[in-house]
Amino acid sequence: MVFKQWHAGIIVVGGGPAGMMAAFRAAQCNAGVTLVEKTYRLGSKLLLSGGGRCNITNTAAMKEFVAAFGENGKFLYRALSVFSPQDLVDFFTSRGLPMRNDSDGKVFPENDSAESVLGVLRTAVEGATVRILHNSAVTGIVCRQGTDVPVSGVSLADGSVIAAEKVIIATGGMSYPKTGSTGDGYALAQQCGHTVVPLSAGLTALESDEKFIKELQGLSLKDIVISVMVNGKIKAAEHGDILFTHFGVSGPRVLVLSGIVVDALTGGNIVELSLNLRPEYSGETFDRYLQYAFESCGPKTIAQYLRDALPASFAPVFQQRYAGAPAKKCSETGSAERKKISAGFTDFRIHITQPRPIEEATITRGGIALKEINPQTMESRLVKGLFFCGEIMDLAGITGGYNLQEAFSTGFLAGESAAAPIVVPADI
Ligand SMILES: Cc1cc2nc3c(=O)[nH]c(=O)nc-3n(C[C@H](O)[C@H](O)[C@H](O)COP(=O)(O)OP(=O)(O)OC[C@H]3O[C@@H](n4cnc5c(N)ncnc54)[C@H](O)[C@@H]3O)c2cc1C
Repeated sequence: MVFKQWHAGIIVVGGGPAGMMAAFRAAQCNAGVTLVEKTYRLGSKLLLSGGGRCNITNTAAMKEFVAAFGENGKFLYRALSVFSPQDLVDFFTSRGLPMRNDSDGKVFPENDSAESVLGVLRTAVEGATVRILHNSAVTGIVCRQGTDVPVSGVSLADGSVIAAEKVIIATGGMSYPKTGSTGDGYALAQQCGHTVVPLSAGLTALESDEKFIKELQGLSLKDIVISVMVNGKIKAAEHGDILFTHFGVSGPRVLVLSGIVVDALTGGNIVELSLNLRPEYSGETFDRYLQYAFESCGPKTIAQYLRDALPASFAPVFQQRYAGAPAKKCSETGSAERKKISAGFTDFRIHITQPRPIEEATITRGGIALKEINPQTMESRLVKGLFFCGEIMDLAGITGGYNLQEAFSTGFLAGESAAAPIVVPADI
């Protein structure tokens, strides 16, 4: 059979990391590309990333990288092979922005500047002669009925239509809506028949109704073990710090655990965090240690012991919960009373009521169902010529640079695949 070929005009919807990389790669592959961004500038969320330092990727091996996205991570094998973490580092290094590996595997620009990361990306996109439309919100995907490649362009909020052979949706999730990520892409995808897996806050802080929370605001308990207890049973644990806020708890380890918490709360379960303030001990071994410590305390009272052993704002909260007779001398404390105190040290419970609102989350969990997207190309399995990349898909990584790498890798693959010539029989 004889085939005719042409390079398609491509529209990328959304100028975050995924959209910028998709536009760059498609243009590099000789496609004509228009990048449509709703706000006045590209990459607003990227500028916030890593507290303005931009934790761009991670040195983790492929297996670990994929595992950072849980069950859905295997969807990423192809994208991470086509554009790996090392390729991403090379992308920036070769453009004059060297990267630094931290001991925990996180990769940052050497100058700790998200602004520089955005600068390099922007220059690459402009250098690849991508046409950029700012302040232009896409409101619809225009499709032709009854053709092999139904996508024919996008409609904009001002009523205009831009024609294209292919469209890449890279509109991100719906956290931090001021950055432009307001979840528009979900409606665009649904309009094309796609399923959106229910959305929830990802890598989020957690709210608690414990009365003591406000007294602890600003306190950080360091180097502890935080366990998620669902209906009294341990489901997951992380070693690190916890930060108390006016509403509940936060900190990188809490964010990592938040997915399990959100799922458990959605299922109507009772969720608590259990803090082991002495992670080198189990409950039983710590009680033995405390028995010895109390015996050698001389005239010290329990209240004095707790003041010495715990941070200043935490000691009174702990005392109220776990020490029935704080004025009693440690050496005179009975075993039941001491066991209650030692349990407080190794299993301090915090009742969790809900996650913070999705607008404040780091990422959005849920999104376009992966079974409807071809992982080899990022093309929709439902609508030929329609592609997805980045956070809009049902992929949620842990903290550590995984989410930005996902955005860059899937963006690269979507751009490259969309730029591939459409091959159709000559007789149509
Ligand atoms: C505070 C914070 C810190 C973070 N830090 C890190 C970090 O250090 N490391 C890490 O790996 N991840 C981090 N993340 C997550 C990471 O920033 C996101 O996963 C990533 O930005 C997703 O990229 P994206 O391109 O898919 O979407 P986004 O970055 O959300 O970009 C989507 C773009 O689409 C545009 N858009 C939306 N709707 C439309 C429309 N209708 N028409 C046209 N344009 C539209 C938006 O304006 C936006 O510019 C952080 C997130 C937050 C909120």
